Amino acid sequence: MQDIADIIPHDSPEDMPVDVVLKALAQLTTPIDESEGVEIMDALGRIIYQDVISTIDVPAHDNSAMDGYAFDGAMLLHAEPNGLELKVVGTALAGQAWPGQLRPGECLKIMTGAIMPAGVNTVVPQELCHTGPHGLVQFPSHSLRPGSNQRLKGEDLQKGQVALQKGTRITPAAAGLLASLGQSVVRVYRPLKVAYFSTGNEILSLGDAPREGAVYDSNRYTVIGLLSNLGCEVIDLGVVRDDPQLLKEAFVQAADHADVIITSGGVSTGDADHTKSMMRELGDMVFLNVAMRPGRPLALGRLTRGAKTAMLFGLPGNPVAVMVSFLVFVKPALLQMMGCTEAPQPYIRARSQELLRKKPGRTEYQRGVVTRNADGDLQVISTGPQGSGLLRSMVQANGLMVLHHAQSTVQVGDWVDVMLL
Ligand code: AMP
Ligand code: MG
Repeated sequence: MQDIADIIPHDSPEDMPVDVVLKALAQLTTPIDESEGVEIMDALGRIIYQDVISTIDVPAHDNSAMDGYAFDGAMLLHAEPNGLELKVVGTALAGQAWPGQLRPGECLKIMTGAIMPAGVNTVVPQELCHTGPHGLVQFPSHSLRPGSNQRLKGEDLQKGQVALQKGTRITPAAAGLLASLGQSVVRVYRPLKVAYFSTGNEILSLGDAPREGAVYDSNRYTVIGLLSNLGCEVIDLGVVRDDPQLLKEAFVQAADHADVIITSGGVSTGDADHTKSMMRELGDMVFLNVAMRPGRPLALGRLTRGAKTAMLFGLPGNPVAVMVSFLVFVKPALLQMMGCTEAPQPYIRARSQELLRKKPGRTEYQRGVVTRNADGDLQVISTGPQGSGLLRSMVQANGLMVLHHAQSTVQVGDWVDVMLL
Protein backbone atom coordinates (compact mmCIF):
# COMPACT_ATOMS: atom_id res chain seq x y z
CA MET A 1 0.00 0.00 0.00
CA GLN A 2 1.28 3.45 -0.92
CA ASP A 3 2.23 5.65 2.06
CA ILE A 4 -0.22 8.43 2.87
CA ALA A 5 2.64 10.90 2.75
CA ASP A 6 3.21 10.00 -0.93
CA ILE A 7 -0.44 10.65 -1.75
CA ILE A 8 -0.72 13.89 0.22
CA PRO A 9 2.17 16.28 -0.36
CA HIS A 10 2.20 17.72 3.14
CA ASP A 11 5.68 19.17 3.63
CA SER A 12 4.96 22.58 2.10
CA PRO A 13 5.20 25.40 4.66
CA GLU A 14 1.94 26.77 3.26
CA ASP A 15 -1.42 25.60 4.56
CA MET A 16 -2.96 23.11 2.17
CA PRO A 17 -5.96 24.27 0.10
CA VAL A 18 -9.22 22.43 0.79
CA ASP A 19 -9.42 21.23 -2.84
CA VAL A 20 -6.02 19.55 -2.62
CA VAL A 21 -7.05 17.66 0.51
CA LEU A 22 -10.32 16.61 -1.11
CA LYS A 23 -8.54 15.30 -4.21
CA ALA A 24 -6.13 13.26 -2.08
CA LEU A 25 -9.00 11.91 -0.01
CA ALA A 26 -10.84 10.76 -3.12
CA GLN A 27 -7.73 8.78 -4.00
CA LEU A 28 -7.51 7.23 -0.54
CA THR A 29 -11.06 5.94 -0.35
CA THR A 30 -12.68 3.05 -2.20
CA PRO A 31 -16.07 1.45 -1.62
CA ILE A 32 -16.19 -1.48 0.82
CA ASP A 33 -16.91 -4.49 -1.37
CA GLU A 34 -19.37 -6.28 0.90
CA SER A 35 -23.11 -6.53 0.58
CA GLU A 36 -26.21 -7.97 2.18
CA GLY A 37 -29.79 -8.57 1.15
CA VAL A 38 -32.39 -6.53 3.05
CA GLU A 39 -36.17 -6.33 2.95
CA ILE A 40 -37.28 -3.29 0.99
CA MET A 41 -39.16 -1.98 4.01
CA ASP A 42 -35.86 -1.86 5.93
CA ALA A 43 -33.77 -0.56 3.04
CA LEU A 44 -34.44 3.18 3.26
CA GLY A 45 -31.20 5.14 3.13
CA ARG A 46 -29.12 2.13 2.11
CA ILE A 47 -26.95 2.10 -1.01
CA ILE A 48 -27.69 -0.28 -3.89
CA TYR A 49 -24.84 -2.76 -4.40
CA GLN A 50 -25.60 -3.89 -7.96
CA ASP A 51 -27.77 -2.59 -10.77
CA VAL A 52 -31.37 -3.68 -10.28
CA ILE A 53 -32.67 -4.99 -13.61
CA SER A 54 -36.39 -5.09 -14.16
CA THR A 55 -37.70 -8.61 -14.81
CA ILE A 56 -41.11 -7.30 -15.85
CA ASP A 57 -42.72 -4.49 -17.79
CA VAL A 58 -44.16 -1.79 -15.53
CA PRO A 59 -46.99 -1.34 -16.12
CA ALA A 60 -47.53 -4.84 -17.39
CA HIS A 61 -50.32 -3.84 -19.84
CA ASP A 62 -51.58 -0.79 -21.68
CA ASN A 63 -54.12 0.65 -19.24
CA SER A 64 -56.36 3.60 -18.63
CA ALA A 65 -55.01 6.70 -16.88
CA MET A 66 -58.53 7.97 -16.10
CA ASP A 67 -62.02 6.94 -15.15
CA GLY A 68 -64.02 7.42 -18.35
CA TYR A 69 -64.84 5.77 -21.65
CA ALA A 70 -62.36 3.89 -23.80
CA PHE A 71 -62.60 3.65 -27.58
CA ASP A 72 -60.60 3.31 -30.78
CA GLY A 73 -58.92 6.72 -31.31
CA ALA A 74 -59.24 6.35 -35.10
CA MET A 75 -62.88 7.43 -34.68
CA LEU A 76 -61.66 10.91 -33.66
CA LEU A 77 -60.48 11.51 -37.23
CA HIS A 78 -64.04 11.33 -38.56
CA ALA A 79 -65.72 13.03 -35.62
CA GLU A 80 -68.45 15.65 -36.16
CA PRO A 81 -67.48 19.21 -35.07
CA ASN A 82 -69.65 18.88 -31.96
CA GLY A 83 -67.99 15.64 -30.95
CA LEU A 84 -68.59 11.95 -30.83
CA GLU A 85 -71.53 9.90 -29.72
CA LEU A 86 -70.73 6.31 -28.81
CA LYS A 87 -72.63 3.38 -27.44
CA VAL A 88 -71.45 1.96 -24.12
CA VAL A 89 -71.31 -1.82 -24.44
CA GLY A 90 -69.49 -2.93 -21.32
CA THR A 91 -67.36 -2.02 -18.31
CA ALA A 92 -63.66 -2.66 -17.67
CA LEU A 93 -62.72 -2.65 -13.99
CA ALA A 94 -59.21 -1.96 -12.63
CA GLY A 95 -56.99 -4.99 -12.91
CA GLN A 96 -59.38 -6.95 -15.10
CA ALA A 97 -59.41 -7.72 -18.79
CA TRP A 98 -62.66 -7.05 -20.65
CA PRO A 99 -63.22 -10.12 -22.78
CA GLY A 100 -65.20 -8.60 -25.67
CA GLN A 101 -64.33 -6.76 -28.86
CA LEU A 102 -65.54 -3.21 -29.69
CA ARG A 103 -67.11 -2.42 -33.02
CA PRO A 104 -67.18 0.99 -34.74
CA GLY A 105 -69.35 3.42 -32.82
CA GLU A 106 -68.90 1.57 -29.54
CA CYS A 107 -67.03 2.32 -26.35
CA LEU A 108 -66.38 0.83 -22.96
CA LYS A 109 -66.84 2.32 -19.51
CA ILE A 110 -63.37 2.04 -18.01
CA MET A 111 -61.75 2.62 -14.60
CA THR A 112 -58.28 3.98 -13.93
CA GLY A 113 -55.77 1.15 -14.19
CA ALA A 114 -58.06 -1.18 -16.16
CA ILE A 115 -56.45 -3.02 -19.05
CA MET A 116 -57.14 -1.49 -22.47
CA PRO A 117 -58.65 -4.21 -24.69
CA ALA A 118 -57.09 -4.86 -28.09
CA GLY A 119 -57.97 -2.19 -30.67
CA VAL A 120 -58.74 0.41 -27.97
CA ASN A 121 -56.19 3.14 -27.33
CA THR A 122 -57.99 6.29 -26.19
CA VAL A 123 -59.91 7.31 -23.06
CA VAL A 124 -62.20 10.28 -22.65
CA PRO A 125 -62.42 11.38 -18.99
CA GLN A 126 -65.82 10.91 -17.45
CA GLU A 127 -66.16 14.61 -16.58
CA LEU A 128 -66.13 15.58 -20.30
CA CYS A 129 -69.04 13.27 -21.10
CA HIS A 130 -72.82 13.57 -21.22
CA THR A 131 -74.61 10.32 -20.83
CA GLY A 132 -77.76 10.18 -22.94
CA PRO A 133 -80.58 7.64 -23.29
CA HIS A 134 -80.14 4.13 -24.74
CA GLY A 135 -76.62 3.71 -23.30
CA LEU A 136 -75.22 6.53 -25.42
CA VAL A 137 -72.43 8.84 -24.32
CA GLN A 138 -71.46 12.16 -25.99
CA PHE A 139 -68.31 14.22 -25.68
CA PRO A 140 -66.39 16.98 -27.49
CA SER A 141 -63.44 15.56 -29.41
CA HIS A 142 -61.13 18.57 -29.90
CA SER A 143 -59.12 18.02 -26.70
CA LEU A 144 -58.48 14.34 -27.48
CA ARG A 145 -55.96 12.61 -29.75
CA PRO A 146 -55.63 8.93 -30.51
CA GLY A 147 -53.75 7.57 -27.47
CA SER A 148 -54.99 10.23 -25.01
CA ASN A 149 -55.16 9.10 -21.36
CA GLN A 150 -53.65 5.73 -22.08
CA ARG A 151 -50.63 4.47 -20.10
CA LEU A 152 -48.46 2.24 -22.22
CA LYS A 153 -47.10 -1.12 -21.22
CA GLY A 154 -43.52 -0.67 -19.96
CA GLU A 155 -43.69 3.14 -19.96
CA ASP A 156 -42.31 3.33 -16.40
CA LEU A 157 -39.85 0.47 -16.85
CA GLN A 158 -39.23 -2.07 -19.56
CA LYS A 159 -38.24 -5.64 -18.89
CA GLY A 160 -34.41 -5.83 -18.98
CA GLN A 161 -33.97 -2.13 -18.27
CA VAL A 162 -31.88 -0.90 -15.32
CA ALA A 163 -34.42 0.20 -12.73
CA LEU A 164 -31.93 1.45 -10.15
CA GLN A 165 -28.22 1.88 -10.58
CA LYS A 166 -25.52 0.56 -8.30
CA GLY A 167 -24.54 3.36 -5.93
CA THR A 168 -28.05 4.84 -5.68
CA ARG A 169 -29.36 5.66 -2.22
CA ILE A 170 -32.74 4.09 -1.55
CA THR A 171 -35.21 6.94 -1.14
CA PRO A 172 -38.93 6.43 -0.54
CA ALA A 173 -39.42 6.71 -4.33
CA ALA A 174 -36.74 4.09 -4.99
CA ALA A 175 -38.29 1.76 -2.39
CA GLY A 176 -41.61 2.16 -4.19
CA LEU A 177 -40.00 1.46 -7.56
CA LEU A 178 -38.39 -1.72 -6.21
CA ALA A 179 -41.75 -2.83 -4.85
CA SER A 180 -43.40 -2.13 -8.23
CA LEU A 181 -41.07 -4.77 -9.70
CA GLY A 182 -42.48 -7.30 -7.27
CA GLN A 183 -39.12 -7.50 -5.53
CA SER A 184 -39.16 -7.89 -1.72
CA VAL A 185 -35.40 -8.00 -1.07
CA VAL A 186 -32.67 -5.73 -2.40
CA ARG A 187 -28.88 -6.20 -2.30
CA VAL A 188 -27.20 -3.21 -0.64
CA TYR A 189 -23.74 -2.35 0.65
CA ARG A 190 -23.34 -3.40 4.24
CA PRO A 191 -23.35 -0.40 6.60
CA LEU A 192 -20.05 1.37 7.05
CA LYS A 193 -18.75 0.87 10.60
CA VAL A 194 -17.36 4.03 12.11
CA ALA A 195 -15.72 4.22 15.54
CA TYR A 196 -15.63 7.55 17.33
CA PHE A 197 -14.00 8.88 20.47
CA SER A 198 -13.34 12.28 21.96
CA THR A 199 -9.91 13.01 23.41
CA GLY A 200 -8.68 15.52 25.95
CA ASN A 201 -8.23 15.61 29.70
CA GLU A 202 -10.54 18.59 30.03
CA ILE A 203 -13.46 16.73 28.45
CA LEU A 204 -16.26 15.53 30.72
CA SER A 205 -18.79 12.87 29.88
CA LEU A 206 -22.43 13.51 30.68
CA GLY A 207 -22.96 12.51 34.28
CA ASP A 208 -19.49 13.63 35.39
CA ALA A 209 -19.48 16.38 38.01
CA PRO A 210 -18.52 19.74 36.52
CA ARG A 211 -15.05 21.00 37.45
CA GLU A 212 -13.10 24.13 36.74
CA GLY A 213 -11.60 24.30 33.27
CA ALA A 214 -13.48 21.28 32.03
CA VAL A 215 -16.16 21.13 29.32
CA TYR A 216 -18.79 18.56 28.54
CA ASP A 217 -18.19 16.41 25.50
CA SER A 218 -20.45 17.86 22.84
CA ASN A 219 -18.48 16.50 19.87
CA ARG A 220 -19.55 12.97 20.63
CA TYR A 221 -23.16 14.00 20.07
CA THR A 222 -22.64 16.14 16.99
CA VAL A 223 -20.36 13.65 15.24
CA ILE A 224 -22.49 10.63 16.08
CA GLY A 225 -25.55 12.56 14.89
CA LEU A 226 -23.83 13.32 11.58
CA LEU A 227 -22.81 9.67 11.24
CA SER A 228 -26.32 8.44 11.96
CA ASN A 229 -27.73 10.79 9.33
CA LEU A 230 -25.44 9.18 6.78
CA GLY A 231 -26.61 5.70 7.79
CA CYS A 232 -23.31 4.58 9.34
CA GLU A 233 -23.12 1.98 12.08
CA VAL A 234 -21.51 3.81 14.99
CA ILE A 235 -19.08 2.28 17.47
CA ASP A 236 -19.18 4.81 20.30
CA LEU A 237 -16.02 4.74 22.42
CA GLY A 238 -16.91 7.82 24.48
CA VAL A 239 -14.19 10.03 25.93
CA VAL A 240 -10.63 8.71 26.13
CA ARG A 241 -8.32 10.40 28.62
CA ASP A 242 -4.94 11.64 27.54
CA ASP A 243 -3.12 8.55 28.63
CA PRO A 244 -0.93 6.59 26.17
CA GLN A 245 -2.21 3.19 27.31
CA LEU A 246 -5.88 4.19 27.17
CA LEU A 247 -5.44 5.86 23.80
CA LYS A 248 -3.66 2.82 22.43
CA GLU A 249 -6.44 0.51 23.61
CA ALA A 250 -9.07 2.75 22.04
CA PHE A 251 -7.26 2.93 18.69
CA VAL A 252 -6.67 -0.82 18.62
CA GLN A 253 -10.27 -1.62 19.49
CA ALA A 254 -11.49 0.84 16.87
CA ALA A 255 -9.15 -0.51 14.19
CA ASP A 256 -10.19 -4.09 14.93
CA HIS A 257 -13.89 -3.39 14.50
CA ALA A 258 -14.38 -0.35 12.30
CA ASP A 259 -13.83 0.68 8.69
CA VAL A 260 -13.23 4.25 9.77
CA ILE A 261 -12.02 5.84 13.01
CA ILE A 262 -12.88 9.42 13.86
CA THR A 263 -11.45 11.28 16.84
CA SER A 264 -11.80 14.85 18.02
CA GLY A 265 -9.20 16.96 19.74
CA GLY A 266 -5.48 16.81 20.22
CA VAL A 267 -4.33 17.30 16.62
CA SER A 268 -3.43 21.02 16.61
CA THR A 269 0.20 21.94 16.10
CA GLY A 270 0.46 23.20 19.66
CA ASP A 271 -1.22 20.22 21.27
CA ALA A 272 1.01 18.63 23.87
CA ASP A 273 -1.16 15.60 24.47
CA HIS A 274 -0.57 11.99 23.44
CA THR A 275 -3.22 11.68 20.75
CA LYS A 276 -0.93 12.64 17.91
CA SER A 277 2.02 10.59 19.08
CA MET A 278 -0.18 7.51 19.45
CA MET A 279 -1.59 8.03 15.94
CA ARG A 280 1.95 8.31 14.66
CA GLU A 281 3.04 5.19 16.54
CA LEU A 282 0.14 2.99 15.39
CA GLY A 283 -0.74 4.35 11.97
CA ASP A 284 0.46 5.69 8.66
CA MET A 285 -0.42 9.35 9.17
CA VAL A 286 -0.08 12.89 7.91
CA PHE A 287 -0.81 15.90 10.08
CA LEU A 288 -2.10 18.72 7.95
CA ASN A 289 -2.74 22.37 8.34
CA VAL A 290 -5.60 23.07 5.97
CA ALA A 291 -6.14 26.56 4.59
CA MET A 292 -9.61 26.85 6.04
CA ARG A 293 -11.55 28.40 8.85
CA PRO A 294 -12.84 27.00 11.08
CA GLY A 295 -10.92 23.74 11.30
CA ARG A 296 -7.29 24.16 10.34
CA PRO A 297 -5.67 21.05 11.87
CA LEU A 298 -6.52 17.67 10.36
CA ALA A 299 -4.88 14.28 10.88
CA LEU A 300 -5.39 11.77 8.10
CA GLY A 301 -4.18 8.24 7.87
CA ARG A 302 -4.68 4.52 8.15
CA LEU A 303 -4.37 2.02 10.96
CA THR A 304 -3.60 -1.50 9.84
CA ARG A 305 -4.22 -4.48 12.13
CA GLY A 306 -3.47 -7.82 10.52
CA ALA A 307 -5.31 -7.95 7.21
CA LYS A 308 -7.62 -5.09 8.15
CA THR A 309 -7.02 -1.40 7.51
CA ALA A 310 -9.16 1.37 8.97
CA MET A 311 -9.14 4.91 7.71
CA LEU A 312 -8.45 7.48 10.44
CA PHE A 313 -9.63 11.07 10.66
CA GLY A 314 -8.28 13.12 13.54
CA LEU A 315 -10.54 16.16 13.69
CA PRO A 316 -9.93 19.33 15.67
CA GLY A 317 -11.58 19.63 19.06
CA ASN A 318 -13.47 22.89 18.71
CA PRO A 319 -17.17 22.11 18.43
CA VAL A 320 -17.80 24.06 15.22
CA ALA A 321 -14.47 23.07 13.67
CA VAL A 322 -15.26 19.40 14.20
CA MET A 323 -18.62 19.71 12.42
CA VAL A 324 -17.28 21.77 9.52
CA SER A 325 -14.31 19.41 9.05
CA PHE A 326 -16.73 16.51 9.07
CA LEU A 327 -19.02 18.07 6.48
CA VAL A 328 -16.19 19.16 4.21
CA PHE A 329 -13.85 16.15 4.38
CA VAL A 330 -15.28 13.20 6.26
CA LYS A 331 -18.75 13.13 4.72
CA PRO A 332 -17.65 12.82 1.07
CA ALA A 333 -15.04 10.22 2.04
CA LEU A 334 -17.60 8.15 3.96
CA LEU A 335 -20.11 8.37 1.12
CA GLN A 336 -17.48 7.07 -1.27
CA MET A 337 -16.63 4.20 1.09
CA MET A 338 -20.35 3.42 1.47
CA GLY A 339 -20.52 2.96 -2.29
CA CYS A 340 -22.70 6.01 -2.87
CA THR A 341 -22.16 7.44 -6.34
CA GLU A 342 -24.75 10.19 -6.20
CA ALA A 343 -23.59 13.71 -6.98
CA PRO A 344 -23.18 15.76 -3.81
CA GLN A 345 -25.91 18.25 -2.99
CA PRO A 346 -24.98 21.39 -4.97
CA TYR A 347 -24.30 24.66 -3.20
CA ILE A 348 -27.04 27.24 -3.57
CA ARG A 349 -26.30 30.92 -4.22
CA ALA A 350 -27.65 33.71 -2.06
CA ARG A 351 -27.02 37.46 -1.86
CA SER A 352 -24.97 38.47 1.14
CA GLN A 353 -26.85 40.92 3.35
CA GLU A 354 -23.63 42.27 4.78
CA LEU A 355 -19.99 42.95 4.10
CA LEU A 356 -17.84 39.89 4.83
CA ARG A 357 -14.14 40.68 5.17
CA LYS A 358 -11.90 38.01 3.72
CA LYS A 359 -8.39 37.64 2.35
CA PRO A 360 -7.66 35.24 -0.49
CA GLY A 361 -5.65 32.17 0.52
CA ARG A 362 -8.08 30.12 2.61
CA THR A 363 -11.61 28.80 2.46
CA GLU A 364 -13.97 30.17 5.08
CA TYR A 365 -17.20 28.54 6.15
CA GLN A 366 -19.39 31.11 7.85
CA ARG A 367 -22.56 30.12 9.59
CA GLY A 368 -25.52 31.89 8.01
CA VAL A 369 -29.27 32.04 7.79
CA VAL A 370 -30.76 31.87 4.30
CA THR A 371 -34.13 33.46 3.63
CA ARG A 372 -35.94 34.87 0.59
CA ASN A 373 -35.99 38.64 0.05
CA ALA A 374 -38.86 40.78 -1.30
CA ASP A 375 -37.59 40.29 -4.89
CA GLY A 376 -37.77 36.55 -4.48
CA ASP A 377 -33.97 36.15 -4.39
CA LEU A 378 -32.28 34.05 -1.75
CA GLN A 379 -30.35 36.14 0.75
CA VAL A 380 -28.04 35.15 3.56
CA ILE A 381 -26.97 36.80 6.79
CA SER A 382 -24.28 35.64 9.16
CA THR A 383 -25.31 34.31 12.57
CA GLY A 384 -22.88 36.84 14.13
CA PRO A 385 -19.57 36.05 15.82
CA GLN A 386 -17.89 33.10 14.10
CA GLY A 387 -15.75 31.68 16.94
CA SER A 388 -15.13 27.99 16.38
CA GLY A 389 -16.41 27.12 19.83
CA LEU A 390 -19.81 28.75 19.34
CA LEU A 391 -21.98 25.70 18.84
CA ARG A 392 -25.18 27.70 19.31
CA SER A 393 -24.50 29.52 16.05
CA MET A 394 -24.39 26.15 14.32
CA VAL A 395 -27.87 25.46 15.68
CA GLN A 396 -29.15 28.84 14.45
CA ALA A 397 -27.60 28.48 10.99
CA ASN A 398 -29.38 26.76 8.12
CA GLY A 399 -26.35 26.97 5.88
CA LEU A 400 -22.61 27.56 5.69
CA MET A 401 -21.54 30.39 3.42
CA VAL A 402 -18.58 29.06 1.49
CA LEU A 403 -16.06 31.82 0.82
CA HIS A 404 -13.70 30.11 -1.58
CA HIS A 405 -9.90 29.96 -1.40
CA ALA A 406 -9.23 32.69 -3.95
CA GLN A 407 -12.21 34.83 -3.02
CA SER A 408 -11.74 38.21 -1.30
CA THR A 409 -14.10 40.47 0.64
CA VAL A 410 -17.78 40.00 -0.13
CA GLN A 411 -19.77 43.21 -0.60
CA VAL A 412 -23.40 43.70 0.41
CA GLY A 413 -25.56 42.18 -2.33
CA ASP A 414 -22.82 39.95 -3.78
CA TRP A 415 -23.79 36.37 -4.53
CA VAL A 416 -22.15 33.78 -2.27
CA ASP A 417 -22.22 30.00 -2.34
CA VAL A 418 -24.03 28.35 0.55
CA MET A 419 -23.81 24.74 1.68
CA LEU A 420 -27.27 24.04 3.07
CA LEU A 421 -27.22 22.23 6.40
P1 AMP B 1 -8.03 20.77 20.79
O1 AMP B 1 -8.27 20.59 19.33
O2 AMP B 1 -7.85 19.49 21.52
O3 AMP B 1 -6.90 21.73 21.01
O4 AMP B 1 -9.33 21.42 21.39
C1 AMP B 1 -9.72 22.72 21.03
C2 AMP B 1 -10.87 23.20 21.89
O5 AMP B 1 -11.99 22.38 21.70
C3 AMP B 1 -10.59 23.19 23.38
O6 AMP B 1 -11.08 24.38 23.92
C4 AMP B 1 -11.37 22.02 23.90
O7 AMP B 1 -11.80 22.21 25.19
C5 AMP B 1 -12.53 21.95 22.94
N1 AMP B 1 -12.94 20.56 22.81
C6 AMP B 1 -12.12 19.53 22.49
N2 AMP B 1 -12.81 18.37 22.47
C7 AMP B 1 -14.09 18.69 22.77
C8 AMP B 1 -15.29 17.92 22.89
N3 AMP B 1 -15.28 16.60 22.70
N4 AMP B 1 -16.45 18.56 23.21
C9 AMP B 1 -16.44 19.89 23.39
N5 AMP B 1 -15.35 20.68 23.29
C10 AMP B 1 -14.19 20.09 22.98
MG1 MG C 1 -6.82 19.19 23.41
